[in-house]
Amino acid sequence: MAQIKRALMVGMARSGMAAALLLSAKGAIVRLSDRKSREELGDVLEPLSHIPGVEYRLGEAPETLLDDVDLVVLSPGVPLDNPVVGAAQARNIPLIGELELAYRNARGRLIGITGTNGKTTTSTLVAEIFKNAGKMSYLVGNVGFPYSAIALDTREEDVTVCEVSSFQLETIREFRPQLSAILNIVPDHLNRHGTMAAYQSLKERIFENQREDDVLVLNYDDPLLRESATRAPCRVTWFAREGQPPGGAFARDGCILWLSQGEERVICDTADVRLPGPHNLENALAATALAMEGAVPAPVIRHTLRTFKGVEHRLEAVRELDGVWYINDSKATNVNSSCRAIESMTRPTVLIAGGSTKNEDLVPLARAIQGSSIRHVVLVGEIAEDIARALDQVGFAHYSRAGMDFERAVLMARSLAGEGWNVLLSPAGASFDLFRDYEQRGEVFRRIVNGLS
Ligand code: ADP
Repeated sequence: MAQIKRALMVGMARSGMAAALLLSAKGAIVRLSDRKSREELGDVLEPLSHIPGVEYRLGEAPETLLDDVDLVVLSPGVPLDNPVVGAAQARNIPLIGELELAYRNARGRLIGITGTNGKTTTSTLVAEIFKNAGKMSYLVGNVGFPYSAIALDTREEDVTVCEVSSFQLETIREFRPQLSAILNIVPDHLNRHGTMAAYQSLKERIFENQREDDVLVLNYDDPLLRESATRAPCRVTWFAREGQPPGGAFARDGCILWLSQGEERVICDTADVRLPGPHNLENALAATALAMEGAVPAPVIRHTLRTFKGVEHRLEAVRELDGVWYINDSKATNVNSSCRAIESMTRPTVLIAGGSTKNEDLVPLARAIQGSSIRHVVLVGEIAEDIARALDQVGFAHYSRAGMDFERAVLMARSLAGEGWNVLLSPAGASFDLFRDYEQRGEVFRRIVNGLS
């Protein structure tokens, strides 16, 4: 990257801080801006306090912020309609995202993973596979650990697995993973991205800089992604849970198979995949395709699929007590995610559902409950009554109310579950009615469950 003299960093949360430290390590003067004041930011700025050449311009208007700046870097949380974006364009000052900055300063192999659902699970699994193959593998991006934090430490022989959100793709320029994947495209985030077509073309930016000898992994079962393949500048490999793709990783007769250059080989049994549910089989297939393309030996993939327990708050098995498994799926903040969890239950289950509203239609949730292993639903939180109405509508009568008392909900679920059952927390709603965020909700669930005797 050409020498930057003075960079403006917009947005000072975790990624902004990592990017500022990177810029400073590269010898740039870093100008920090955030709409919050220094007091409001509190400890966030602490790591920069010993670094010379940092200019604090917190709470300042965009016009003067740009004086003498030769690069603007945006945090992933800062939307493109922020006035500083237009102002930078008007002055012809290059503007990039934090991810792009990290990419320009990193080495080694980069694997980029995007999609509507399953990004964190698949990225974590892929990083684990490469680690088990003896590589130094970094897990960065939208997972909550900024790429900028490790970019300068990466070496040619390392692997970096980057979870990429659509927001982050809005501000890339040269970002080029040698291996990339789009897991699925379902309507979500449409508030910010407008139409489905716009959302899809944003996701497709993950491969816009890939070259002929790079590889793109796509979901063969997703018609939209089959269409995306026609626009790829590189080789395409597939993964499929249902269909039979012309090449890649797919499931057939209880096996995960790999098909390449007309030759088929068995990687493992689908039952070897420790993560529960059909959606996680898809994530495992995507990870297998990426790992096979990354020349990881099949036994390493098999071993990792057998042992990988998943990411916390996503169908996380917390504890077995009196023959009942307690499962924390607090990350299921919408109907679609909870439907995936319900589908994944292979034992009779008491479901704890409810949270704050996302203004979704809850009837699909009620339908999924009706035809499943769910024997009883305990309703809690703001949308409890809305779920109750949806259950009434489909004729599912086995539900109880815990009001706004989360602990009571867990205790009620315990008393309803028999030996050999599950208790599943999968709220189908956001957490803001009773908690700070879904992580805190999951932690409280774990604490209550671990305290049961
Ligand atoms: P993301 O990082 O894309 O939000 P996660 O791996 O964190 O995805 O999973 C979040 C939730 O999305 C899970 O709890 C599960 O309900 C659902 N999910 C995970 N993988 C898939 C998939 N392949 N298809 C559909 N839903 C999925």
